[in-house]
Amino acid sequence: MFARQKLYEGKAKIIYATDDPEILLAHFKDDATAFNAQKRGQIAGKGEMNCAISSHLFQHLESAGIATHWIDRPAPNELRVRSVQIIPLEVVVRNIAAGSLCQQTGLELGTVLPHPLVDFYYKNDALGDPLLTRDRLLLLQLATSEQVDQLQTLALQINQILSAFFQECNITLVDFKLEFGLANQGQLLLADEISPDTCRLWNQSETDPNLRILDKDRFRRDLGNIEAAYHEVMERVLAHAPQS
Ligand code: ADP
Ligand code: MG
Repeated sequence: MFARQKLYEGKAKIIYATDDPEILLAHFKDDATAFNAQKRGQIAGKGEMNCAISSHLFQHLESAGIATHWIDRPAPNELRVRSVQIIPLEVVVRNIAAGSLCQQTGLELGTVLPHPLVDFYYKNDALGDPLLTRDRLLLLQLATSEQVDQLQTLALQINQILSAFFQECNITLVDFKLEFGLANQGQLLLADEISPDTCRLWNQSETDPNLRILDKDRFRRDLGNIEAAYHEVMERVLAHAPQS
């Protein structure tokens, strides 16, 4: 077997080339980082769990009509995906106030937002992934005005689909981060991953504000039982057919 050509190693995944230039392999690692990689660690089994969760959610979104990079899952911690030119934006959708939204606005943790909020951040580790305004985003030419509108609409559609899916799992989708990219024909595809690393997920069977957390906030805030939380999300997600 040939040594695989590593194209990029990020904080959570390694991207490999395949013999088809339009197809990549995304290998999910157990490595965990937070606060722009100032905090580092490992979550045992995370690679496989996030890969399984992402794969299931991408399939579900595909069956609901959202174009994604997902092709299949050839190994427990690997996804085959369509190669895209990633738009360097983190598109964050929020349903409930948490994290930086609370810090920056004074909104109380857990405040249900009157309507979902879409925030764009510059995906740039050197700058600390800053929050962008629409004008700054256009100034930096990170996307066209039409693309911003398209991303906003898609992000809200994805939010509806995923919120309903997680509701079936007795999980509240508090907020989540998406990445999009352009395939070779210019088609806009949802890319990267959707997992407890990139979503805030609250267990509806728990009322305690710390016990209910089923996502990377357990790692960020040293709350313990991280693997168990990710495992719980995986079990509940996989128990629901992707197209239901
Ligand atoms: P990072 O540390 O930059 O967040 P990750 O480890 O999360 O990196 O993932 C590896 C990189 O792969 C990310 O920069 C992500 O934008 C990129 N990526 C995700 N999906 C695709 C794709 N379909 N085509 C090309 N690049 C992708
Ligand atoms: Mg990433």
